[in-house]
Amino acid sequence: MTTPFFETPIEYSKGVGPARADLLKKELNIHTFGDLLTYFPFRYVDRSKFWQIADIKDENTFIQLRARIVRIQTIGTTHHQRLVATVRDASGEVDLVWFQGVKWVLEMLSPQQEYVIFGKPGLFNGRWNIPHPELEIPSLQPLPLNETIRPIYNSTEKLKSKGLDFKGIGKLIKAILMNERFIMPESLPPEIIQGLRLINRQEAFVNIHYPQSPELLKKAQARLKFEELFYIQLRLAKQRYGRLLKHEGHKFLKVGEYVNQFYHHHLTFELTNAQKRVIREIRSDLGSGNQMNRLLQGDVGSGKTLVALMTMLIALDNNYQSCLMAPTEILARQHFNTITGMLTGLNVVVKLLTGSTKSAERRDIQAGLQNETVHLLIGTHALIEENVKFARLGLVVIDEQHRFGVAQRAKLWGKNTVTPHILVMTATPIPRTLAMTLYGDLDTSIIDEMPPGRKTIVTKHVFEPERAKVFRFMREKIGEGRQVYIVFPLIKESETLDLKNLADGYQSIIQEFPPPQFSVAMVHGKMKQMEKDSEMKRFSDNQAQIMVSTTVIEVGVDVPNASVMVIENAERFGLAQLHQLRGRVGRGSDQSYCILMSGYVLSAEAKKRISTMVRTNDGFEIAETDLQLRGPGDLQGTQQSGIMDLRIADIVKDEKILKYARNLASEIIANDPGLSKEKNDILALHLINMDKKHQNWGLIS
Ligand code: ADP
Ligand code: MG
Repeated sequence: MTTPFFETPIEYSKGVGPARADLLKKELNIHTFGDLLTYFPFRYVDRSKFWQIADIKDENTFIQLRARIVRIQTIGTTHHQRLVATVRDASGEVDLVWFQGVKWVLEMLSPQQEYVIFGKPGLFNGRWNIPHPELEIPSLQPLPLNETIRPIYNSTEKLKSKGLDFKGIGKLIKAILMNERFIMPESLPPEIIQGLRLINRQEAFVNIHYPQSPELLKKAQARLKFEELFYIQLRLAKQRYGRLLKHEGHKFLKVGEYVNQFYHHHLTFELTNAQKRVIREIRSDLGSGNQMNRLLQGDVGSGKTLVALMTMLIALDNNYQSCLMAPTEILARQHFNTITGMLTGLNVVVKLLTGSTKSAERRDIQAGLQNETVHLLIGTHALIEENVKFARLGLVVIDEQHRFGVAQRAKLWGKNTVTPHILVMTATPIPRTLAMTLYGDLDTSIIDEMPPGRKTIVTKHVFEPERAKVFRFMREKIGEGRQVYIVFPLIKESETLDLKNLADGYQSIIQEFPPPQFSVAMVHGKMKQMEKDSEMKRFSDNQAQIMVSTTVIEVGVDVPNASVMVIENAERFGLAQLHQLRGRVGRGSDQSYCILMSGYVLSAEAKKRISTMVRTNDGFEIAETDLQLRGPGDLQGTQQSGIMDLRIADIVKDEKILKYARNLASEIIANDPGLSKEKNDILALHLINMDKKHQNWGLIS
């Protein structure tokens, strides 16, 4: 069999020798004709539009000018020579600069000639110039319509040095498109193509690289974006369906004594409507006979823990044990305390298992899990160690899921023959579009309503020189009986420096708030567990009015009397983290405050993060901004998700297409789970081809 055209190694392309082929592989991961064809332009320039020189003000956009050469100079010694050609249009002058090929360019340039100049301006010594532009003598004829839109490809310094700048890459692609063997096999069934009025694949590939018109470019983009998102969603839908078929679940049909007792006699407040809805969703999963695999999203303080507890009680009513896994020891303890507190008087046995549980206690717990006298086990990842065995594990609740790897989740599943139900809770709101892609095979519940009576946290940005004001404010609040958190950044790369920063901060706080009138607690990751616990306890018992800490405080800690959160070097925190930290206050009935401290010099992104925090308390809105600022690449959990490989679609901008693709994919899988019907042959085949390319996708879920 001959190699399909697409899999032809890049070396066989006209103009690609071994050196260029090597670079294309190393720099852009392009190995075949197909890879090159899916290396899409990142933008387009309209060649019928010309800029005025006086309007140049942006370093990052390609522009096109029409100007006459007024001066040509060579500057520097023979070895470091540069050529500067000054051009002028009606609005002003700008320098074109060449550092390489000076002699050759010099011969080519004609003084007083008018050129069409194309390039990316840069600022040099406060003056605009255009390094290594492209020049053409303006054509007397208008450009043919199909050449007015010019594709721009990303390139790298190394590729450029081998003549593969955006134009060079464009030429390679054009050569493939012009090859008589170039045929793009269709990847979508006619039904979908006609239904959505998509252009065919071949046309889409031609027009994405060489748009014949703006309309065709739009159509090509729509077609290729849809195709890309659709196949991701199709895979997820198939996986989800496969899971439902494969994993029979424990059937929890009963709502019995434990739930009723708790609901009617122990709950001191009414559930919010969102909590009620989510509990209904969970109950319907639990009774379905399939294994539940549900993601519960809700902002900090929205009452997820309570939902988890009710779910565990349902398991207990059906004679099953549950466990709750938290990412840190502090949080595990906190859950343990809250839950045992809420269950007092009910005959439920709850145990805590963490890394610091003593071995005698550990053995006791072990025995209790085996003879079913322990009903709920709460802990850290110590829970998933080999020797922890449950007699009847029916439900696993995982708090703050992104901290647990996929492998760890799988380990939990392996604990019983029938896979336990899984409820994953996260307080980091995930933008809807991202969740669809990242957790496409999980069912999602959202608590989008806060318990009543919560006051919006007032957030202020305060600059370093105004610190005295912050201290005054703290004194005032402490005088009213409230407590204060002060959080310092701590990142691994500069840990020593950061810890010193924290220690200095602690000293200056003690000076400002001296004993015996005040007491200041401190917690950081380098302390012994016992010290941490005792410092935490001093704070939660209100013996210390101020808690100085690193971000260990971030996750889930609950001290309702604390109403002020001061974040030092706020510019160094990510949005998600700032939001988490702010969620530590505003848990009681008092008005709460979050103070973001920073110096005056801030990057544009830091400014945007801080202003977003000041503007809104809505976790989903903050998550959207975070996604827009950073792109999906830096968000936790996205690395292996496949969305990093997106070639053309953008999960932020193409939300509509994504939703459509998702619905269509679920519909198709619901009607033909194995994609075995003839009309779906093309889908099955394309999915297999894609799996060959993206083997890492199997890791998700
Ligand atoms: P999350 O885990 O989502 O951050 P929690 O479950 O810790 O939130 O709840 C935060 C606080 O709100 C807790 O003190 C909890 O007891 C309380 N709470 C939860 N649900 C309600 C409700 N429906 N009405 C009033 N208070 C609630
Ligand atoms: Mg919580």
